[in-house]
Amino acid sequence: MNWRIPLSDIDFDEAESLAVQGVLKSRWLTMGKVTQEFEVAFAAHVQAKHAIAVTNATAALHLACLALGLGPGDEVIVPSLTFVATANAVRYVGATPVFADVVSQDDLNISPKAIESLVTSRTRAIIVVHYAGYPCDMEAILSIARQHNLFVIEDAAHAVGSELDGRPLGTWGDVGCFSFFSNKNMTTGEGGMMTTDNDDLAHKLNRLRSHGMTSLTWDRHKGHAYSYDVVDLGYNYRIDEIRAAIGLVQLSKVELNNERRRSLTQVYRDALQELAPQVAVPFQNHVGKTSAHIMPILLPSETRRKEFIDSMKENGIQTSIHYPPIHTFTAYKDAMVWDLPVTEDVAKREITLPLYPAMSNDDVVVVVSAIQASLNLS
Ligand SMILES: *Cc1c(COP(=O)(O)O)cnc(C)c1O
Repeated sequence: MNWRIPLSDIDFDEAESLAVQGVLKSRWLTMGKVTQEFEVAFAAHVQAKHAIAVTNATAALHLACLALGLGPGDEVIVPSLTFVATANAVRYVGATPVFADVVSQDDLNISPKAIESLVTSRTRAIIVVHYAGYPCDMEAILSIARQHNLFVIEDAAHAVGSELDGRPLGTWGDVGCFSFFSNKNMTTGEGGMMTTDNDDLAHKLNRLRSHGMTSLTWDRHKGHAYSYDVVDLGYNYRIDEIRAAIGLVQLSKVELNNERRRSLTQVYRDALQELAPQVAVPFQNHVGKTSAHIMPILLPSETRRKEFIDSMKENGIQTSIHYPPIHTFTAYKDAMVWDLPVTEDVAKREITLPLYPAMSNDDVVVVVSAIQASLNLS
């Protein structure tokens, strides 16, 4: 389908192509100096002590759970209004996801109050998701974590470049997990990053990423080591030099692109005021600096969403949904009955509008007019 206005679009130019060609010409394709450079640059960017690159954010979340020692019998509190990978990671290590509601129709992030009410003697960790890059209430969440001795993992897949109190998201908890999937604010096709300030954790994450081995191919190549031991049941979750090279270029663009996303978000907010109160725009009162990863709105409860999406499509405008809540998926059906009234309400009404740096202010006006027209239909 050829969209007049797609949901998202990547910002690639000659620089990414040249970076990839450079790696191909070097004939060293994985775990080399480009990956190290990417990790150092990313760590500096988000002000983390360590950054460790992996194949994707799902792998990052998996290794974060493993490195923190989560396992069978442990409960991990997660939002249901997120991508399924957030909760899958908990299950990969045999632990149990416990779903917490979001704050409100305006704040689609995990609710500290809900977290507090779900803590049991088995709770070991909380995974927060900064929805669309808007910061969770980290102060309240860290305070609960300290009180009950819980780890905090940040699913920062949306949040590269986001900040709270001047401090980048992904560095508030024990481990931050970033995604470079093709629709994220910076992309390597598939790719991810783990960040931490804890030296021991960094060491573990690094080892788990590469089969639990004590030395890496790169070190052996450089003559630093000739053999190795395997001390953990690790995985092959390594990124390659080709993706790392793309990542370096993308990282250099992300702040300017985020600025453009924030500016477009403001244009949307202003234009959508004309459709209030029927159409609600979440995160009106957000604090901190957002990466403006996506543009969510809430339709009136009586609107038939499928017909709305089809009508937008007829206007050449691609939309999406963030998210079908995890606790409603077949793979998550169990004996538990979750009490998530806000999640269930917003998940039925949410629509994600197009948002990407190359979008024009006029495109926003076109989208908002199409919303107006489409709502009259239903
Ligand atoms: C994209 C995304 C992930 C998964 O990232 P991958 O890099 O595709 O594995 C996890 N959590 C959230 C909230 C995401 O948006």
